[in-house]
Amino acid sequence: MDLTEKINKIDIEEFQQDLIRWFEAEQRDLPWRKDSDPYKVWVSEIMLQQTRVDTVIPYYNRFLEKFPTIESFAEADEESVLKIWEGLGYYSRARNLHSAIKEVVATYGGKVPDQKEEILKLKGVGPYTAGAVLSIAYGKPEPAVDGNVMRVLSRILLITEDIAVPAARKTFEEGARTLMFEPNPSYFNQALMELGALVCTPTSPSCLLCPVQKHCSAFEKGVQDELPVKTRKKNTRHDKLAAIVLQNEKGEFLIRKRPAEGLLANLWEFPSLKMQPVLEPHETLQDFLMTEYSIDVEVAPVSFTTVDHVFTHLKWTIHAFHGKVAGARLEENERVRFVTEKEMNELAFPVSHQKIWQAHKIHVEYEKEKAKGRI
Ligand code: SF4
Repeated sequence: MDLTEKINKIDIEEFQQDLIRWFEAEQRDLPWRKDSDPYKVWVSEIMLQQTRVDTVIPYYNRFLEKFPTIESFAEADEESVLKIWEGLGYYSRARNLHSAIKEVVATYGGKVPDQKEEILKLKGVGPYTAGAVLSIAYGKPEPAVDGNVMRVLSRILLITEDIAVPAARKTFEEGARTLMFEPNPSYFNQALMELGALVCTPTSPSCLLCPVQKHCSAFEKGVQDELPVKTRKKNTRHDKLAAIVLQNEKGEFLIRKRPAEGLLANLWEFPSLKMQPVLEPHETLQDFLMTEYSIDVEVAPVSFTTVDHVFTHLKWTIHAFHGKVAGARLEENERVRFVTEKEMNELAFPVSHQKIWQAHKIHVEYEKEKAKGRI
């Protein structure tokens, strides 16, 4: 049975009513639902990519406190953009959003485009974000198909295409477009997303409580747990790293900026490198700091903390060591420098290095208490 035949089986009007009525009654009270300003919708949709709603709420609120208008965000420098995004991950989202917003201000006088062809040209805006902004902010009948919506539609319409294959998106968009509730596209798209988040969940969907159960082909056939079809991810690489929290004689800390492209671009971090199989990590760090930065260091032989961090295709295990400068000819520049503790707190670090910093502070407190004989 092709998609059209599957859709023809559904009483579309009744499906829309069941879905929208449920959404009106059950939707969660979320900060971005209070306002359909396109800038705010856009920010929330970018933050919500790959990130849980509970995590996003405080970031969203802080973001809009700092950058209440599209112009204020366009004028921000990259450092403060990364700082406000610190801990949210996937930092290219923040950089792309920033550069797209600057373009909106420069090219469109600060008005987010309401034409699909224009909004799709902006950096970091794909079909999902475009559909979400156009429908929620401008009431246009554009589908907004993300992983959640694909799951819901794969079950309702019994679509067995592999959702990991980009070409499958077309089928899901076609399905969403045919079911679209034209009088209120914003509610239609949000209702499908909400259904995916609250009822039609990845495992153990709550079919018995589902408002569209009687329209759902997967439920009728009892195959909801087998959908959507998704091929497995490739194996993740596991890098083992040694990092150093290095202090100079003034008590300042050595930090460096990550490269301008690639993973965690332009965030600050403690110097680190992949561990060498033949050398002890503290010796590897000593060699590295001398070769790379002309700093002679004493490194503690035992790490004070170990931090794991998982990215999409990569896992880091970082063993962090303390070190003291024994002699330095380092020429500081904008990508590597010693900073005070106060400056540390003003710069943006990846989550893994924030954890190292927290562990360092706990370690220092512990040592102080020990020295006073309290432990
Ligand atoms: Fe999802 Fe079950 Fe509802 Fe179908 S009936 S849409 S599988 S929750």
